[in-house]
Amino acid sequence: AKRAGRRRAHPYEHAMTEALRKRQEIVDGLHDAVKGGGFRLAFQPIADLASGITCGYEALLRWQHPERGWISPEVFIPIAEDAGLIDDIGRWVIAEACRHLAGWSPHLYVAVNVSAAQLASDALLDHLTQAVMTNGLAAERLEIEITETALIRDPAKVAGRLERIRKLGFKIALDDFGTGQSSLSHLRDLCFDRIKIDRSFVLRAASDPRSMAVLRATVRLGRELGVITHAEGVETSEQLALCREIGCDAVQGYHIGRPLIPLIDMGMPYYVQTD
Ligand code: C2E
Ligand code: CA
Ligand code: CA
Ligand code: CA
Repeated sequence: AKRAGRRRAHPYEHAMTEALRKRQEIVDGLHDAVKGGGFRLAFQPIADLASGITCGYEALLRWQHPERGWISPEVFIPIAEDAGLIDDIGRWVIAEACRHLAGWSPHLYVAVNVSAAQLASDALLDHLTQAVMTNGLAAERLEIEITETALIRDPAKVAGRLERIRKLGFKIALDDFGTGQSSLSHLRDLCFDRIKIDRSFVLRAASDPRSMAVLRATVRLGRELGVITHAEGVETSEQLALCREIGCDAVQGYHIGRPLIPLIDMGMPYYVQTD
């Protein structure tokens, strides 16, 4: 029999529908997680190299989809941005990070990641101030991490916003330094408290003299600018020694400590490893 008018789905078209369906599932799941508390924060220690002591923790968002299991923030954050959910998620991250910080030793700080869409929104400043006020914290114990990609959208607006945030006492870190565009002009034009040198530089420094030269020069540049230099992705004792040798201020990475989810809230004083 002739199937008049019935078009057979092209294989690519099928793949597209499948991708869209998956995406919608993630969006639905994120909506539920925002309402129902489906998120967790993992905390990864940051060590001060001079003293060897933990000086703070970076909060990293974790989400377990009811059917799909753990999904990486690199996957769901961009989807949350598109779906208009990032302000609500970001507010929760900031509030939750501060709630934990309130229970830690006063010499520690917490860093939260802020995406481009969050930085573009007026809500961020309110979320930051509310979180420190609610928990009776000094603003200087809360740091926001922004990437170079977040800076290029609307540079003038972003610069003004960062200045206001900094005037209120919050700290600002430039994340994944060296991987974006015009890294140097950002350092020249904006005030940061810390630069987090991307882990790709640390990874290659031990085996490649050119990477080592770039890493060393970046640390020197940071020092001249009066910015804290912070190496990411320190996975081995060799890499740690190298960071010390070139005079890096702070280190973070699996060799120092993995991101862990505190379960103390559930009455269990231990941690769950997440990666
Ligand atoms: P990021 O801010 O650069 O965070 C560092 C990432 O590297 C984390 O991945 C961390 O688990 C991982 N990492 C830490 N130490 C090492 C190491 O020694 N070796 C290697 N290979 N990896 C290491 P994670 O948690 O999957 O987060 C990925 C990205 O998702 C983050 O990159 C950040 O851009 C974003 N993200 C995470 N949490 C949040 C959040 O609350 N809000 C926003 N807007 N973005 C977030
Ligand atoms: Ca970060
Ligand atoms: Ca980073
Ligand atoms: Ca990153």
